[in-house]
Amino acid sequence: MDPFDSNNTERADLPRNMIENSMFEEEPDVVDLAKDSAAFPTFPALDPDEVAFEPRSSRLLVRGLGENDMDDDEDCESSARLLGMSFMNRSAAHRSSSSPYARQAPPRSCSRPSTRTTVVCVLFLLIVAAMIMVMYFLPGCNFTKTGCPRTNKTTPPEQVYPVSTSGEPFPWAQLRLPRSIHPLSYDLTLDPDLDNMTFTGRAVISMSVLHDTKLIVLHSARLNITRATFKLDDGEARAVTVLEYKPRQQIAVKFSEELKTGQSCVLTLDYSANLSHTYDGFYNSSYTDAGGVKRVLAATQFEPLAARKAFPCFDEPSFKATFLIRISRKPSYLTLSNMPQAKSTPLLNGLVQDEFEKTIVNMSTYLVAFIVANFIPTSKLVSETRVSVYSVPDKKEQTHYALDTACKLLEFYNDFFEISYPLKKLDLVAIPDFLAGAMENWGLITFRETSLLVGEHSSSLEKQVVASVVAHELAHQWFGNLVTMRWWNDLWLNEGFATYMQYMSLHTVFPQLDVGNLFLAVRFRALDNDALNSSHAVSMDVNKPEQVEEMFDSVSYEKGASILLMLNASLPGEQQFRKGIIQYLKQFSGLNTDTNDLWNSLTQVEVSPQHPNVSEMMSSWTSQKGFPLVTVSRKGGQVTLTQEHFLLTSDNATQASSLWNIPVTYVTDNCSLAPECRQVFNLKNKSGTLKEVPESVKWLKLNYRNTGFYVVHYGDEGWAALIAALSRNISVLTPEDRASLVHNIFALSRLGRVSFSQVLNLLSYMSNETETSPVAEALLQLDVLYCLLDQRQEHSVVARMKSYILHQFRPLMDKQTWEEEEQSVSKQELRSALLNMACRLNEEECVRRARAQFIRYAESNGTVRIPGDLQQVVFTVAAQSDEGWEALLGMYAHATYDAEKRKMLRGLASTQDPRRIVWILTAVLRGDLIQTQELPLVVSTVCHGFAGYLFVWDFIQENWDRLIEKFPLGSFAIQSIIKSATARFSTQAHLNQVEGFFSSLKERGSQMRSVQEAVETIRLNQRWMDRNLPTLKERL
Ligand SMILES: [Zn+2]
Repeated sequence: MDPFDSNNTERADLPRNMIENSMFEEEPDVVDLAKDSAAFPTFPALDPDEVAFEPRSSRLLVRGLGENDMDDDEDCESSARLLGMSFMNRSAAHRSSSSPYARQAPPRSCSRPSTRTTVVCVLFLLIVAAMIMVMYFLPGCNFTKTGCPRTNKTTPPEQVYPVSTSGEPFPWAQLRLPRSIHPLSYDLTLDPDLDNMTFTGRAVISMSVLHDTKLIVLHSARLNITRATFKLDDGEARAVTVLEYKPRQQIAVKFSEELKTGQSCVLTLDYSANLSHTYDGFYNSSYTDAGGVKRVLAATQFEPLAARKAFPCFDEPSFKATFLIRISRKPSYLTLSNMPQAKSTPLLNGLVQDEFEKTIVNMSTYLVAFIVANFIPTSKLVSETRVSVYSVPDKKEQTHYALDTACKLLEFYNDFFEISYPLKKLDLVAIPDFLAGAMENWGLITFRETSLLVGEHSSSLEKQVVASVVAHELAHQWFGNLVTMRWWNDLWLNEGFATYMQYMSLHTVFPQLDVGNLFLAVRFRALDNDALNSSHAVSMDVNKPEQVEEMFDSVSYEKGASILLMLNASLPGEQQFRKGIIQYLKQFSGLNTDTNDLWNSLTQVEVSPQHPNVSEMMSSWTSQKGFPLVTVSRKGGQVTLTQEHFLLTSDNATQASSLWNIPVTYVTDNCSLAPECRQVFNLKNKSGTLKEVPESVKWLKLNYRNTGFYVVHYGDEGWAALIAALSRNISVLTPEDRASLVHNIFALSRLGRVSFSQVLNLLSYMSNETETSPVAEALLQLDVLYCLLDQRQEHSVVARMKSYILHQFRPLMDKQTWEEEEQSVSKQELRSALLNMACRLNEEECVRRARAQFIRYAESNGTVRIPGDLQQVVFTVAAQSDEGWEALLGMYAHATYDAEKRKMLRGLASTQDPRRIVWILTAVLRGDLIQTQELPLVVSTVCHGFAGYLFVWDFIQENWDRLIEKFPLGSFAIQSIIKSATARFSTQAHLNQVEGFFSSLKERGSQMRSVQEAVETIRLNQRWMDRNLPTLKERL
């Protein structure tokens, strides 16, 4: 899956440890927002002037300061839970502590208790507490369901079973399913009713018994099972009772006789359900066609845990099986699934039933997919495979680029992996309502429209987005679909690989798309994210549903891809890495693997005895969180390297035990540009000494072209030598190396190892810089600082920062043109970064040109185009005036080209007008005028402005339950929303609020890693400001 919103450059641009601050330093006024119904009113019409506006002055810092209107409810809920705990058993009590996966009503329904109820409750609690204490102090008591085994201390405690919906004990007490039964095939018949948004289904599951058992346990969520039969070997089918335990989304069938190893059996389940209103499971979606008619459709998104919402199944990646799927539809619709259609049969009720071929491959449940819609395709044949791109009929013209790209990439992968794509068809489908960027379902890849459709006039930057997502999802057909991780703890095997292959394949097949800058920026952001103490190892324990969701993060994708690049770059010979992965794919084809399987395959193809063992080297990168800081110290000809954990932590804790096996690379002023200049040193220990470096060498640059996943500190003298060299001639280093110096010095400043003066010293060379990646990295880092100062209302420093940035980059900004389409992607990226910054700083000429461009565009009635890479800056400038915002809103409502439409949305969300900010947040949550799938984009854009972030935090607290209804806890969308909303806080008051709010959520969010990240980031922001504000005041 590509959970990232590829067009949201905010994501790539914002380092996790944003050094932001707030204008609020004093104690805020306390207002009860819950009673403030005008806080986020629902606006009936588009006219923002009608919006009831509550001035933001004081009502924003309320939550989390102890004034929590949920307290009473929470107390009541906790009491109920406590009672439940004592009386039944621990697991049963969790039913009331609603998991978002169970989709139960949020635990706020408890009404305020009367005095009498309170007294009764307290008495009851006292009695219960007394009982618990008596039981607890009995010797050997283990709270088993039969009480305490008093006499025989050697008897192991009996398993505590939860209680199923029917009141009977549910016979399985773990999150993971038992291994005694393995599914072989599913025969699924689905009858969706798009008029009533419901469906019925029949799942016939053939299984084999791997170990003697009296039990079959599988997953099912929100399915109403109406009939169940069971057949053993050649016996008769008989009705069986299905027990359900909703909190874990499990169902079970118990047998009085043991099923014996080697036997086969068939479970048939009939069920009904509603189509999901969120973005997972079998969900309904709609769009309005060019004629203004609302069209409905139904599609699926199962990864990671939602196949169980569409059919009962063994919903873990290692339970691979074959699938035969039948779906009924109205004659005006078509259906799609993983396999080609086998036959179509008219039904008596006027519907048609489509049957798809049985899958020829064993497949994990999260890769199953089906769609019922009125889409139309364009197709091409690539060797044995028919490749088709489907879209809504109005957008058929926008599918050609994706089709062409997919065909070329399919050929590339077939050849590169030396294993042909196994299916006869490959569909790529653009779905109007889709939360993730795309999903790699085998043979039926689903996409957001932005990730697949490009218009005739699209810029090559927009094509780069589409090609990247297509390349990623196609790589998954091998990495993920053919060979699948055994469990979600190794998600990086899917996602790190697909991300790496996406850049690698595009670099080879479409060099004109220039993905190098993008991949470099991705690696910088991966380092920034992984520097936090709340980060995690690439491969880690995953035990809860929200932990599974949380694995879809920067570590699995971006760090995973970064360490694969490092490995590939460190292996001797071009083909080593490729040979290793071909061997891995062939050896484990159709099976499940873990990280060690990959390293072992790569180790086997090694040829050079001097080269470090791959398994030994790479496990140091996958088994521990974070990355190393390599410090260079030089005494004459002796250069010593030391390593330590690069850990951004507010309490100065260090992790002395972390040690990486680092393939350090370096170049010197003798030879610094060509790949042959690169020298290698394996730093396995705390420190190591390079072979004698001649004293005549003026400087060393480590991490050649930034292919390694570490940060380098050169010490005062080392930095000074590099800065002096760059000031004389920037071409002594590659652009990647220059960007890497820029990134590293900002990182070291955050770590407190260099002063901000040293950062400015390095940036002094920037006025001569012309390449995209160093400029883009410097602008990104400076923008973070600018936001910080701006929001802290340090007016004089803000003004000086503004003139500093304009002074440094003015020559390059002035060189940018506004009219013609630039050809190279890299040049477009550069122009876009420079002009966005210039206009953001209100540089007069930039604003004037952008306004003029917008007026010409608005008046031309669609005949004048704004170059794709300039649309964002033009729309953002336009949205700052009343007329511009209104005009843009009108265009947004009618725009059909999704990439452009989203830039309009970002423009609208960049407004500094509080009424409009409130309006847009409300509209996107409501979902009619702006799709709710855009909420993370809107939130991150609104937060980028000075006015907006103040509203967003309030909005999130007010609407938390609605948010987690739409987006699963821990999901990328929720991670992104929390990060955007909190990354700019840096005061104690905000820290208290954030901590208070999230801890009040309890199981509705407090446990998420992104919450820890938010808290840690705020503390780091606070510390950074304390340390560096004086320097900024002095130096700028
Ligand atoms: Zn993916």
